[in-house]
Amino acid sequence: MTADGTVLASIKGLGAVYDCGGCGNIHLQVGPLTLALEPGAYMQLVALLSTSAANFELLLEQRSKAAHQEEREGK
Ligand SMILES: [Zn+2]
Repeated sequence: MTADGTVLASIKGLGAVYDCGGCGNIHLQVGPLTLALEPGAYMQLVALLSTSAANFELLLEQRSKAAHQEEREGK
């Protein structure tokens, strides 16, 4: 990243999202992997992850309910 870069978010030990200030892309760095995404693609990725997280929460909730149901039914 150049001196003109801006870190948009980072989590220690996981990665960061930053604008390097040079190429116009948004850089997503996770561990050893870095993706350069044009801004529209970056926003689509944000929506994709956000939707997947919401659906994952629903899935965990359904699994938890199913497990409790089986307990009540003595399975
Ligand atoms: Zn760049």
